[in-house]
Amino acid sequence: MRENAFVRYHEPLFRPPSEADSFILQATLGCSWNACTYCAMYRGKRYQVRPLHDVLADISEARARFAEGVRHVFVADGDPLGMDLGQWEPILLALTASFPRLRRVSTYATARNLLEKSPDELRRLRELGLSLLYIGPESGDDPTLRRIAKGASAAEHVEAARKAREAGLEQSLIFLLGAGGRERSEAHARASGHLATAMDPRFLSTLTLTVIPGTPLSKLEHQGRFELPEVPELLTELRWFIEEAHPSAAIFRSNHASNYLPIGGRLPRDRAAILAAIDAALAGQVPLRPEWARGL
Ligand code: SF4
Repeated sequence: MRENAFVRYHEPLFRPPSEADSFILQATLGCSWNACTYCAMYRGKRYQVRPLHDVLADISEARARFAEGVRHVFVADGDPLGMDLGQWEPILLALTASFPRLRRVSTYATARNLLEKSPDELRRLRELGLSLLYIGPESGDDPTLRRIAKGASAAEHVEAARKAREAGLEQSLIFLLGAGGRERSEAHARASGHLATAMDPRFLSTLTLTVIPGTPLSKLEHQGRFELPEVPELLTELRWFIEEAHPSAAIFRSNHASNYLPIGGRLPRDRAAILAAIDAALAGQVPLRPEWARGL
């Protein structure tokens, strides 16, 4: 357990890069799915919904110290959207009551979480202040989604996104370069662009797969059944993805530490500039993030 100035965290703790300045509230521990073959985030951490009084106590402590300073809250760990409405309601009510300048409450979510919630439940969450969902389909290619055990197909992700949109919940989508391996590299990248178009998020980002020792994917790699694309192939995947991704108005970022080429812009407005930047990198005209500087 880590303690910072006011809240005790159960390690490991993860948050999206864009939540660096947010109050992180651990409402669940671990991930209820915990099966994605590449993921080591919560392996060995048993999933549980934290007792409500502990979560409310964390909010009280934060209010006592930073009531005026909290504008963004990120609700952790892996997929808290799976919590029942009865758990979410008092948490969201307490956040609104505690932080007068609160502008955004976000959380990680999976397509499964969204599909399991009714439209009324999702609307109620939005009314109570939940506003942004970070969803990682990782791929739009069904064979890849099955291989990485994501737990939902491309069509199910589209349906989940529709439910989120109709409830007024914004989405930040994450796709994973390299997830299809060399074998399905182009199919994975292009289908991921198609899925980004269909889910139509406000925010869109790519990460680059790192094979983590001890994961099921690492075992497949050792058996010669998975091969991570080389760096130029990963950049080409990024190009295919951008070619196919046509959201109506999204902010795109590939600035996560796992990526070799940190770029960004608005889609569709900056498509040509983003593609030109990728082409420059493929031609060796732009320095890539060195391996030692990459992170998960
Ligand atoms: S849903 Fe997210 S946290 Fe859970 S196993 Fe998959 S990648 Fe890891």
